[in-house]
Amino acid sequence: MKSNIYKYPIVWQKDDFFIKIYSSIPNIATGILITSNNATFVVDPGDGILRDLSKDVGANTILNISDIFISHGHHDHIGGVWSLLTYLSVMHKKNEINIYYPKGCIEIESIYKAFIKVYKRDLTYKINLREINSEKQFKRKSILIKPFKVNHREISHDNKSTVKIPSIGFKFIYNKKSICYGGDTAYCESLVKHCANSDLAIIEAGADTENKLDLHMSIEQASQIGKTAKEYFLVHVPE
Ligand SMILES: [Zn+2]
Repeated sequence: MKSNIYKYPIVWQKDDFFIKIYSSIPNIATGILITSNNATFVVDPGDGILRDLSKDVGANTILNISDIFISHGHHDHIGGVWSLLTYLSVMHKKNEINIYYPKGCIEIESIYKAFIKVYKRDLTYKINLREINSEKQFKRKSILIKPFKVNHREISHDNKSTVKIPSIGFKFIYNKKSICYGGDTAYCESLVKHCANSDLAIIEAGADTENKLDLHMSIEQASQIGKTAKEYFLVHVPE
């Protein structure tokens, strides 16, 4: 059952379509790099993403990042945004960067606003916030991106009930190969649909107990979806 859970980093490559998952540990950090012939994307830059990228690919590749994709606003998916944006400015990034995020994700909007307030005068590059409010596909560099809604929740202040939060997954398609990344989600039909027949599915299995199943998936649920793709990795498994 646990054969599709790997030690990080996890790497997958088909020709020049490449993905590396540096980390995906619930409540700690996620961090993913995707590249193609001409694209350098970062997905869910949690805490440690700058350290991992710096050690692994170095400054030139980091400076080439054109697009950041955020699945949702939880700290383990966005905790590295501030340091990454600051590093890019300190290193005199010139070309602009897009940040894609689900509509209503106030964490990213707040980080952006505060960041601009602090660094506006010295900022060497432009940051474009790209709110996603539909499942309309779009192309960046050589990669087609299909966002899709998923169903993620968080525990509310009363510590009893849960509340739905803006959350999306992304399907990245390049050179007839597709990578489906669901972000954090409970079992949902849109994830089932988008993972089916993908070349690679990256699926969270963050529920270690039955009572977390409205926030995350169990290993059984995630595996069931994963098996509909050609290959899959289970991530976000509690350690
Ligand atoms: Zn989450």
